Amino acid sequence: MPELPDLAIVADALHAALAGRAIVRAEAPAPLAMRGTPTELAALVGQELREVHRRGKFILLELERDRIAVNAMLTGRFQLAAPGDKRPPSTAVVLAFGPRLSPPRHAARWTKGAAWLPADTAEAEVRYRDPSQMGKVYLLPAGVARPVAGLDDDQGPDADSPALTLDVWRERIRRHPGELKSLLRNQAFVAGIGNAYSDEILHAAKLSPMRRRSSLAPEEVDALYAATRTTLEHAIGILRERVPPTFERQVRDFLAVHLRGGEPCPRCGTRLTEISSRSEATTWCRGCQR
Ligand SMILES: [Zn+2]
Repeated sequence: MPELPDLAIVADALHAALAGRAIVRAEAPAPLAMRGTPTELAALVGQELREVHRRGKFILLELERDRIAVNAMLTGRFQLAAPGDKRPPSTAVVLAFGPRLSPPRHAARWTKGAAWLPADTAEAEVRYRDPSQMGKVYLLPAGVARPVAGLDDDQGPDADSPALTLDVWRERIRRHPGELKSLLRNQAFVAGIGNAYSDEILHAAKLSPMRRRSSLAPEEVDALYAATRTTLEHAIGILRERVPPTFERQVRDFLAVHLRGGEPCPRCGTRLTEISSRSEATTWCRGCQR
């Protein structure tokens, strides 16, 4: 499942590649993934893309009039491609963009001059594919009130947001007494963390996924904050190097513990424990996570 680091790369890349271009074609080969009408989809054509950004686990495309929100859920992926490139199976929605009309404002520094950026004069496509069809592409035309589950009122601050200071973290965490793994994945607490990065953060913080927040000492609350920030920052740095130009690929082989059950802990050498519930794995070290 794409999480904050994966989607941060996608948002930066799509913004750098496509902002400042107008949509020239909009198709939904697998319309089940789309929340919106064919008329609304057709009305996207001609609109310039102003910005692509991430909020929690959503990718948002801000057009000159309308807006698109994508929740990729388990298997949704984004591909940046030239119009002639072969489409991957299970392609659900395709937006084709014309030549660049204006330079993208506020493009992330790491994308500047990247070899994978389409030429300003060329067309470029973003394709959303989703083999499990669990994800959703919400068309949000101006003036149409279409609820997007989990997007607006239901989310806490992004886990990497400058607004999430240590003081804000200490204040918010008081309201969540449960187990730490569930806490980190609770989008109402902080947004963007899922099953894989919650394991990584807890390992970095030396805290067990089963620990209850109510049992944490103040310095452990602070350690969890520091581990959240450094783990996400570290992952984003690696993904910037490893993911482009195949933005549809999920790179996870550098993770320290998640899905490495039975292997030695990279910190203390203890064999890592892994349990699965509802087909989601939790991996941790009984040797150094308390
Ligand atoms: Zn260990």
